[in-house]
Amino acid sequence: MRRLKHRVGLLPLLVSVFFLSAVSAETALPQLQAYEVPADWRTPVKPLQIADQTWQIGSKSLTALLVKTGNGAVLIDGGMPQMAEHLLSNMQALDVAPEDLKWILHSHGHADHAGPLAAIKNASAARIASNAESSRLLARGGAGDLHFDDGLLFPSVSVDRYLQDGEQIVLGEVTFTVHFIPGHTPGSMAWTWRDSLNGQEIDIAYVDSLTAPGYQLIGNVRYPNIVADFHRSFDRISALPCDLLLTPHPHASGWTYGDKALRKKSVSCSKYAENAQRVLQEQLNKQEQQIREINDNFD
Ligand SMILES: [Zn+2]
Repeated sequence: MRRLKHRVGLLPLLVSVFFLSAVSAETALPQLQAYEVPADWRTPVKPLQIADQTWQIGSKSLTALLVKTGNGAVLIDGGMPQMAEHLLSNMQALDVAPEDLKWILHSHGHADHAGPLAAIKNASAARIASNAESSRLLARGGAGDLHFDDGLLFPSVSVDRYLQDGEQIVLGEVTFTVHFIPGHTPGSMAWTWRDSLNGQEIDIAYVDSLTAPGYQLIGNVRYPNIVADFHRSFDRISALPCDLLLTPHPHASGWTYGDKALRKKSVSCSKYAENAQRVLQEQLNKQEQQIREINDNFD
């Protein structure tokens, strides 16, 4: 009886221990995750001349191009959201006042390239031109990305001119032609224009990223034709007028931005596409292998 009493007396204690341990097992919800990038993506550079009218004004490892014309200037990409003030001061250093900036063009709607476009638009006279696919990402500030979901957010911005493939933006004596090259995003774009360098006319091509970082390439319900899109884009890029290739991530086209903009190795548009195609194929092979292994486990 005494024993039984003892057992009965233990029960509430055991219940409370269980309850306490259940409570203490609750862990805090995770911190919000900032989009963190390497320091050189955020390290400003002074204006670096690429060609007579074309300047790199972004950071050491993210391209933001300013093209000066007789009728004002055009910005193509801006890097990370925190680059806005730096871009404006680099423009000022090149005698481009905010009211002289007429157009903002861009490569694709991710935070590391379109980040400061809203701030630059607000601070200047510029209008933004983009295609329908990229406009959706810009309007949502990067939310709902096909591959990153809400992982790469930036201040949202509305587009003033919706571009069709092959459309041209003319400012002063410079004509910018857009080429749709879906893959890295469905709205990815390349831009081409003419400039001069060392007394020679040159065709400049600013071609979007061709990577698929962590993307599901096979059976992706959000982007079923991603691989076919990439392959069509590789063909288009190989055929672009391209004396001088620039890319949002400069190393992809052989550039380093330091005291000067240096082209350490000259990468042609067709070589850029060929390299990207090889890397994509390796990624596809790996994903096919993983699918085979999963299927084998079910056999
Ligand atoms: Zn991207």
